[in-house]
Amino acid sequence: MASAKQIEELRQILEIRKVQIQSNIEDSKNNIAQLQNMDCKDDLDFAESSSDSFTSEIIAVQQSNELKEIQSAIKSIEDKSYGTCEMCDESIALGRLKAKPFAKYCTTCREIYEEENK
Ligand SMILES: [Zn+2]
Repeated sequence: MASAKQIEELRQILEIRKVQIQSNIEDSKNNIAQLQNMDCKDDLDFAESSSDSFTSEIIAVQQSNELKEIQSAIKSIEDKSYGTCEMCDESIALGRLKAKPFAKYCTTCREIYEEENK
């Protein structure tokens, strides 16, 4: 089980990551808006700009998913349930939390989960 100090450190990592992602999402949104507002002189320009905009949208979706996980991790720190596996209620190893501070499952359950969601 992680100590209060260790959890505090992880919370800071999460907060920093949260701010980073929020600004990335803003950038992607601006990028998409810009691409969509661009005057397309010919079909080639259009094809290029729409594939860029598609990529930006995928990145934005991935980032907002990560943002949700980070927000729920921060919330679980606040209600003291942080670091507990959502599936088996065991403590998640500190090493795993350091590698992925918003991990919701312990290593064992994560493997089961990935196996089931292939
Ligand atoms: Zn578990």
